[in-house]
Amino acid sequence: MKKSEVYLDMDGVLADFFTEYAKLAGVKSGNYRDIPPAKTDPTLNKMVGTDFFARLPKFPSADQLVSMVVKLYGHYHICSSPLRGDHENSEKQKKVWIKQHLNPQPVDIVITPNKAKFAKQADGTPNILIDDRGSNISAWENAGGIGIKYQADEDSLQVIVDGLARARKIVKGDEKHEPQQLKSLDRSSGKLIAKSGDKDEHNENHEINDPMQRNAIMTKENASAGSTGAGSVASATAIGGGWLFGGNYGAPKGKRKKSKVIKR
Ligand SMILES: [Mg+2]
Repeated sequence: MKKSEVYLDMDGVLADFFTEYAKLAGVKSGNYRDIPPAKTDPTLNKMVGTDFFARLPKFPSADQLVSMVVKLYGHYHICSSPLRGDHENSEKQKKVWIKQHLNPQPVDIVITPNKAKFAKQADGTPNILIDDRGSNISAWENAGGIGIKYQADEDSLQVIVDGLARARKIVKGDEKHEPQQLKSLDRSSGKLIAKSGDKDEHNENHEINDPMQRNAIMTKENASAGSTGAGSVASATAIGGGWLFGGNYGAPKGKRKKSKVIKR
């Protein structure tokens, strides 16, 4: 039996992007969800050409996550999306971050807006993606891979343990591979951060500037929060294409309320 390769996303999984994003936007609550729609693009613009990605803090769980994967699979890969309009520089900054924070280092680093290309090996063996964005997981699984939706600021590492157990069963043929159909709530902006399928050249997304519409959708997401695991469906509504990480992150540490968790 061939072994799966494990791909780890960075932002939201290993690196705490969203807290720093909120800081950069200057929102008092520290919660990126409170960034007014009109401020999202200007804030993302501020990241372009800078070392923003190299300076992101590492999640406290990151080392344990990496160790767990290395113990079971021998090594790991990084699979992260570039900042739209800043592909080259953001890739460089992400590599600086990896060098500084990860031990052991990954066997390779893939910075791509189309993660699903790596979903399986030439012989069909499914690879594993650990990512905080539901739509990335679904695209990966629909392309024949096995996804684990994990959001470091909300999920415990048990989510990874369970996901890897499911992956082993699927690869062994003990469990049917039924792609998880997850969608991400894509919140406004969208201009700058590349996502799967992007040509990285123009903005084809639409902003959601109506707060009522946003709230309605977030409420719907709240209702479905907690449905994780094999075959579960988060009934979020994907709107407008959005941006790389999509979705909604939890409140910053200390202010987080579990009941308010919105799966992305
Ligand atoms: Mg991510």
